[in-house]
Amino acid sequence: MNIERNPTRSVRIGNVQIGGDAPIAVQSMTATRTQDIAATVAQIRSLIDAGADIVRIAIDSQRDAEALIDVTKEVTGNLSVDLQENYRLAEIIAPHVAKLRYNPGHLYHHEREKPWQDKVCYLAGIAADNDCAIRIGVNCGSVDPDKKNKYDPNDSLSPMLESALDHCQLLDHIGFSRYCVSLKDSDPQNVIDVNRRFAEARPDVPLHLGVTEAGMPPDGVIKTRIAFEQLISRGIGDTVRVSLTVPNDRKPEEIAAGRQILSDIAAGRVRSVVDYGLKTLNIISCPSCSRVENEAFIDLAEQVRDMTEYAQDYDITIAVMGCRVNGPGETDDADLGLWCGPGHVNLKRGPESVGAFSYDEILPRLREELNQLIAARMPAV
Ligand code: SF4
Repeated sequence: MNIERNPTRSVRIGNVQIGGDAPIAVQSMTATRTQDIAATVAQIRSLIDAGADIVRIAIDSQRDAEALIDVTKEVTGNLSVDLQENYRLAEIIAPHVAKLRYNPGHLYHHEREKPWQDKVCYLAGIAADNDCAIRIGVNCGSVDPDKKNKYDPNDSLSPMLESALDHCQLLDHIGFSRYCVSLKDSDPQNVIDVNRRFAEARPDVPLHLGVTEAGMPPDGVIKTRIAFEQLISRGIGDTVRVSLTVPNDRKPEEIAAGRQILSDIAAGRVRSVVDYGLKTLNIISCPSCSRVENEAFIDLAEQVRDMTEYAQDYDITIAVMGCRVNGPGETDDADLGLWCGPGHVNLKRGPESVGAFSYDEILPRLREELNQLIAARMPAV
């Protein structure tokens, strides 16, 4: 599937480009204590070996910063430092990393009398002097209190959005363009909504996507997958992180999950009904997992693709899902949905059930429904 990406500008982070025509970069973050140099080095190496394009490491004290300098001497790769509240550590660490990430909501804690604008100008200066990119990393759990107070407490997304946009505007104003933005939330729907709103306002700014506190696999991967499916299918997102709660030795799973989700989206193997905005026939099938109820599902997904070839020029979505756990709900938004049980395939027209058919009967029945839909709805494009 040829997904048209948003026309973001290209930002270099070490030897990786994000945005522009670059492939979507996959990144991760260390979970070791940064001052445990041996463990942090080992974890960075394991992430890079797993294919991480960028690895982020958090620091919040002078000793963390010094430890990270030691770490950087022992690893190669594109490292990003996660500045927490003590933003002035940037000047110590910037010569040793490729990117500075700061959280607008954390800039308040130190030097409270200083306006945030001065702090951002300081960070941009440090980044520019040290060949670093910047990420403006907005997080639902730590939104700038001034922005929060301006909005209804039930509206958690507008303060995040305004914060990100204000920081972009300031960096633009001072001529610093080598930055990207992230807007993370623990609720995938919020991640979808806030990133769509941001991309509409600033289609030029590269976006780093992630669901924060996604949890343990498989649920953490599923939550993240849903958000990424809805964003990346519409060209939004230039780099991703799948945040998983896993023991340190399993951290490379974040990279594997990220790459798997990206390749599944590109192939139309999705768990939620995705509109790729292509105005042509859209066949999506779930990526399959241990819940698949009949192995015939895999062949069925292929057969549906082949059988429906003749309807290629129609803007119709057909979803094929592998089980009763997610199939019934996840097919509601498709024009035609199939979800597989052990002995039967359930056919739906939107949220309505058409009936359950054997694996041998389903294709001709689907064809009938498809023809009716074509006749009723639309001229060929
Ligand atoms: S629809 Fe069912 S089988 Fe397919 S990925 Fe989701 S849970 Fe697994």
